[in-house]
Amino acid sequence: MTEECAECGDQIPSGEWHPVATLRDGDGEMDIYDFCSEDCRSSWQADVASDD
Ligand SMILES: [Zn+2]
Repeated sequence: MTEECAECGDQIPSGEWHPVATLRDGDGEMDIYDFCSEDCRSSWQADVASDD
């Protein structure tokens, strides 16, 4: 099983360590997002922050 990078869409082997981020969705539940690299997580977090 693999995860997909929420920023660039690359496949991430689920057995390997990778950066993750959590975000509360509209229902108040925490969604977990997986990233292939710290760069992708930083870029994704900047996008989320600018949506507000
Ligand atoms: Zn990525």
